[in-house]
This record gives sequence, C-alpha cells and structure tokens, in this order.
Amino acid sequence: MTYTTQVVVIGGGQAGLSVGYHLRRLGLDFVILDAQAEAGGAWQYTWESLHLFSPAAYSSLPGRPMPVQGGQAYPDAGHVVGYLSDYERRYELPVHRPVRVSGVHRDGQLLRVETDYGAWRARAVISATGTWWRPFLPAVPGRPDFRGRQLHTVEYRGPGDFAGQRVVVVGGGNSGAQIAADLAHDTEQTWVTQRPPRFLADDIDGRALFDAATARRRALDEGRTDTGGVASLGDIVAVPPVREARDAGLLKASPMFVRLDRDGIVWADGTRAEADAVIWCTGFRPALSHLAPLGLRGPRGHIATAGTRSVDEPRLHLLGYGDWTGPASATLIGVGRPARDAAREIAALVR
Ligand code: FAD
Repeated sequence: MTYTTQVVVIGGGQAGLSVGYHLRRLGLDFVILDAQAEAGGAWQYTWESLHLFSPAAYSSLPGRPMPVQGGQAYPDAGHVVGYLSDYERRYELPVHRPVRVSGVHRDGQLLRVETDYGAWRARAVISATGTWWRPFLPAVPGRPDFRGRQLHTVEYRGPGDFAGQRVVVVGGGNSGAQIAADLAHDTEQTWVTQRPPRFLADDIDGRALFDAATARRRALDEGRTDTGGVASLGDIVAVPPVREARDAGLLKASPMFVRLDRDGIVWADGTRAEADAVIWCTGFRPALSHLAPLGLRGPRGHIATAGTRSVDEPRLHLLGYGDWTGPASATLIGVGRPARDAAREIAALVR
C-alpha cells in the first residue's frame, strides 16, 4: 500500500511532536511515523531513578507548559512520558505506531518513505529519530575478553541488578554521574572518567545550560562569534541524588583505564581493579540508517545542514540530534525553535 501526504515526520518523540505542533498550526497535511508501540520516545526506557536536570518550566514543548510534578523540583522520566502522551492527544497529532521506517528514497519530485506498514510519498521529510537507539561504546582494548557483564546506559535499570557487586561506571557526563550515584550505596563501585568530572555549582541547574544555548543562538543569529553549544559545557548538574552521593564522599572519579582483561580493568601504570560488571555511559550517535539510500552522510556520520535543512537534499530536514541541527535541539525546551523554523521552511517549499 502506498499513501501520499505533504510531509512525513519520522519519529514520534519530543522532536517529532514539536514539529507536528507547528505543521498543524500551518495547516499542512502530514503524518508522524513512530517505531515505538507507545508514546514517549526514549523516555520510556531510561533507568528507574532518572530525574531531568531541568525543572518542569524549562522542559516544555511549544504551546503547552509541562506541569510541575507534585513535590519534585526535577521531574522524573515517567512524568515526561505522561506529558508527551498528553501533548500528542491534546493537539491531535497524527502519530502512526508502531511503524518503523526502513529507508527514504528519491522518487522524482517526491521522497518515498518505506516502512514495515507500506510506503508514504511526500514533498518533504523530517527525520526526528533521536540517538537513544544507537548507543556508542568506545573501542577499548580487551573489551571482548572481559568475562563479566557489560552494558550501556540504555540497558541500565537500577541498582537492584548489581547489589554487592564490583561495578565500574565509565563516563563523566550527566548519565555517568547519575548512574554512579544510583549505585553508590549498594555496590563496590569504581567511577572512571576521561577527564576530572566538572560539577555545576549546587545552586545552578539545567537552566544554566539552556541560558548558554540561548546566548549561542542569539550570537549565531546576529552573526557574532559562536559561544559554544550545550554539549561543549559537559558539566554535571548536581541533582539531589548526585549531590548527596558526592557529599557523602561516594562519588570520587578515577582516570580512564587503558584496557580490560578477563576479570577487570587495568590502568596505564599497571594497577588493576577486578569487576563483575562494566557500565558504559559513553554516549550515543544519531540514528540515521534509514537515510542511507540518500547518500548524504559526511565525516563523523553527520549530514551537512543549514539550520535543520539538509544542504544536499533540501526536501529533508533533521531535528533533535544535537547542536548541529540547532542549539540545544536535543533537549525538551530547546527543540521548539528549530521545530518551528523547519515547519516554516517546509511550508514555503510545499505550498
Ligand atoms: P527520541 O526520544 O529518541 O524519539 C525518537 C523516536 O523516533 C522514538 O520513538 C524512536 O522509536 C523513533 N524512531 C527511531 N528510528 C525510527 C525509524 N527508523 N522509524 C520510525 N521511528 C523511529 N533533555 C532535557 O531537556 N532535559 C533533561 O533533563 C534531559 N536528560 C536526559 C537524560 C538522559 C540520560 C538522556 C539520554 C537524554 C536526556 N535529555 C534531556 C536529552 C533529550 O531530551 C532526550 O534524549 C530525548 O529523548 C530526545 O528526543 P527525540 O525526540 O529527539 O528522540
């Protein structure tokens, strides 16, 4: 079966919903195709104790403020899932799920989106598939030899799975710090980071990151020097569990090890630590394999963009993967503006 519409949005997480909101306001005919069975994108799969590093007021999508979660300064992931489910109902966004896109192809004047539920032909496509689905693990020597358990952030659920074990947590970003704090009481833990972790001052939260992103956006808009993106800050927000573990002296970082062996990790000076499990909190890459038929990827796997529009395929926009598709576009509050700009550009193209 082949359907026709003006715009196909691939991905029904926060980025796909935000652009859906603007497409709806502009009166365009569109569908959102989402591989998950339920609303909420990646937020459905995070670990149990995860809390946003930004308060609700700084975590809202266009048009609808995120309600405060009773008694919580920083909402949890379940609250975000509830908010996103409500958002797509409220704005009657045409989300089809579960529908997985396998490829986007050029088809004369149109783009053809192949899925496991038939094909859609459209004048424009917005890819908003996120990064959670492509966990990144560094190529550390000896990784295949390690006999213990290895998992990535995406597979971590909570400390219950590791009680009493020797666990190595790798990664000095917010995920690494939060998971290290989560495990601090129940495990014999080693937290390993590439450079000494940098904690934001306790009275500063995710708002500071967004303010930096706003300053950057203004600088870019006004043609001034780039002030750097949210990711370049790389600082850890001292959300309450992280702060507590740090203050209790349970969150001390060691430098990165140079290899693994069968039973643990080995540092450059030959010192070793035995481990039952290694948790890699080492980040993600954009999930872009469905765009391979268009042949657009450059070095580092990125597709060249001007704003959100692909430079080499102007009928394609990318939204939400990181600063290269708009400052802070991989955050709840940050995706609204690039989503609006993408929808406007597409409206001008298809009308
Ligand atoms: P996703 O939520 O991943 O949604 C993409 C959707 O596309 C998914 O439903 C997926 O199934 C679907 N999809 C993928 N491939 C296909 C395909 N081929 N066909 C069809 N559908 C497909 N941001 C904040 O603002 N505040 C925070 O505190 C915060 N904390 C974070 C903590 C962690 C641990 C992480 C990892 C991220 C955090 N972020 C935070 C960043 C960001 O808000 C999330 O990563 C968010 O999930 C990104 O939304 P998205 O819509 O771009 O992608």
